[in-house]
Amino acid sequence: SYKLGPKVSDWDQQREQWLTANPGFPSRIAGGKPKILLVTGSPPNPCDNPIGDHYLLKATKNKIDYCRIHGIEIIHNMAHLDRELAGYWAKLPLIRRLMLSHPEVEWIWWMDSDALFTDMAFEIPVNKYEGYNLVIHGYPDLLFDQHSWIALNTGSFLFRNCQWSLDLLDTWAPMGPKGPVRDEAGRILTASLKGRPAFEADDQSALIYLLLSQQETWGAKVFIENSYYLHGFWAGLVDKYEEMMEKHHPGLGDERWPFVTHFVGCKPCGSYGDYPVERCISSMERAFNFADNQLVEDIPLLHTYKQSNEFYKTPDEIIKVCNFYVFCLYNL
Ligand code: UDP
Ligand code: MN
Repeated sequence: SYKLGPKVSDWDQQREQWLTANPGFPSRIAGGKPKILLVTGSPPNPCDNPIGDHYLLKATKNKIDYCRIHGIEIIHNMAHLDRELAGYWAKLPLIRRLMLSHPEVEWIWWMDSDALFTDMAFEIPVNKYEGYNLVIHGYPDLLFDQHSWIALNTGSFLFRNCQWSLDLLDTWAPMGPKGPVRDEAGRILTASLKGRPAFEADDQSALIYLLLSQQETWGAKVFIENSYYLHGFWAGLVDKYEEMMEKHHPGLGDERWPFVTHFVGCKPCGSYGDYPVERCISSMERAFNFADNQLVEDIPLLHTYKQSNEFYKTPDEIIKVCNFYVFCLYNL
């Protein structure tokens, strides 16, 4: 069956050796946090609708801002690395290649182009994931009890740079090749997963299927996160931003101030989606502004900080606020 590339079986040792031989490229950044590379991508050609390109640019600006503030590296890929794994499957060969070419990176964080950071102060609690190799937003009951096709979301997830991840990618990819393989896999996925419409195999359904059918092999190293919005479905969030601004402040990441707002089903760069294009575009505009205002004015954050430093109590948190403030002044 289909292979992502020549089999690599000793990556943990290779990576360890490389890190020892290249002390100038540490796997941790200042402050001791593990190095994270955020990876996103978009099709090689212009969007079907020019407004789609405008929102791709805004979503990219949003990611650059977030990453700069939080010491995260970022890559935007527009190439199709693999003819067979086009579209949403393109992230698999890309993640694999980046793991192998960036041994200094501890975590690869895939984020869809149609997902925006909407909490510019929140940071993922990376220490919590020690001992885990895949961190993905989802709900264990939807996954294990209901076999729901939306139990997990592959629009924003983190992979540790290790052999386990390469093995999972190798196991995941064979459902992806465009054509009869992807079509047939789609039929199996629709028959197996609750709520899944009939269409070709997608990476999300395939991962859910894999984790259900091979739970013993993979389950122990997968962290299913839902204590904050590593992925947040836009339709339930966008209309609540004003209320959130009245009641809460950035840095919470959960339903009070969602970390990520993801425009699932909107296809802003394509020509068809599951929602009216006007609703998608106006909602993306609101999400972008909601996020960008946290940079330019930063009023909620500083307001919160001035009122009580209860929330930002560790030195680390205070430095974060100060960095924010400097960034603010610079912008004004
Ligand atoms: N994508 C890509 N290259 C392509 C097509 C898609 O990198 O040629 C990426 C892009 O980042 C996109 C993601 O794949 O956001 C998944 O597709 P989409 O967001 O449209 O799916 P949805 O979230 O609506 O299920
Ligand atoms: Mn998406």
